[in-house]
Amino acid sequence: MKISSDFTSGNIHCIAAAAPDNIRLSILPDHDSKEMQWFYFCLTGAANASCRMVIENAGQVSYVDGFRDYHAVASYDQDTWFRVPTDFDGESLTIRHQPTRDEVYYAYFAPYTLAQHRQLINRARESSLVSYQSLGKTPDGHEIELLTVGEAGAGKKTAWIIARQHPGETMAEWWMEGCIGRLLDSDDSVAGKLLSQYVFYLVPNMNPDGSARGHLRTNACGRDLNRAWLEPSEAATPEVFVVRQKMQQTGVDFCLDVHGDEALPYNFIAGAEGVPDWSPTRQQELDGYRHHLAELNPEFQTRYGYPVAAPGQGNLSMCTNYIAQHFGCLAMTLEMPFKDAANAPEPQQGWSPARCRKLARSCLEAML
Ligand SMILES: [Zn+2]
Repeated sequence: MKISSDFTSGNIHCIAAAAPDNIRLSILPDHDSKEMQWFYFCLTGAANASCRMVIENAGQVSYVDGFRDYHAVASYDQDTWFRVPTDFDGESLTIRHQPTRDEVYYAYFAPYTLAQHRQLINRARESSLVSYQSLGKTPDGHEIELLTVGEAGAGKKTAWIIARQHPGETMAEWWMEGCIGRLLDSDDSVAGKLLSQYVFYLVPNMNPDGSARGHLRTNACGRDLNRAWLEPSEAATPEVFVVRQKMQQTGVDFCLDVHGDEALPYNFIAGAEGVPDWSPTRQQELDGYRHHLAELNPEFQTRYGYPVAAPGQGNLSMCTNYIAQHFGCLAMTLEMPFKDAANAPEPQQGWSPARCRKLARSCLEAML
């Protein structure tokens, strides 16, 4: 019997795996950071055994509430992921499962690997609507990749959608898959109308280094990209530096920054209410978007979310606030759950890749 995580996005330290009912594990922190919560590992040689896997340092992770009422995901083929019984006592997270096959994977949420990212980019590039650009390289040497959908022209607005600043929030890239799929569907009238009004700039993965390293929240330099927008560093946060530079060239009329929230079992949107230039008109735009989205997709809701920042107190180092203030446009942070959508629960799968893709399609329609 063996536990391994020496693959892309893998994260676990194996303390003991001598007996199936006493597998002891710990999550590794992001490099040069204390952030940790993402786990992803493979168990081999335990087919039909009742396995009890205990993550001993679960009480020390970045978002401890994220493990309350949470169920880990498992997969035999890394394509279909399902939830398995999981308990948290405030210190340890215990995953119980009797795998029916010799090889089984467990993760915090359905992983979105760099190989999947490559396929997503390559599929998109087959469309005549798409142009591809690498904006630069990350500290680990990955490309920072931008897809432009549609062509700029007189009267066209500019929409930016970025995902996965926090690499462990893989739901953000599953969402991107749905977004790109709809935009490139030539039979889709919503996409057609949107593309007649907007050029889309899409960054499906803002943080490939953190994704490859199996990080929760930071890049290769241990930096939280969503706290770097006010003064990005060419050396330590080049991911934000080059994207912000490109935004200056294109302008921004609409921005969506896609994330996952560890603790809250809801889909919700956080706005930029705390920026100095906030106004009643901008509040109406934000409320209007959220209202339309909730009507289009009952898995989205407007009741639960983050506390709203006090007037003028918004943190401008965050993407949404920075963009809202700097470009004076509607900028929003979309959060999806790691757990389930408690207002529309589906316990077998919890929140899932398919539901992420579906929500993305609704987000585009709400935009229209
Ligand atoms: Zn996030």
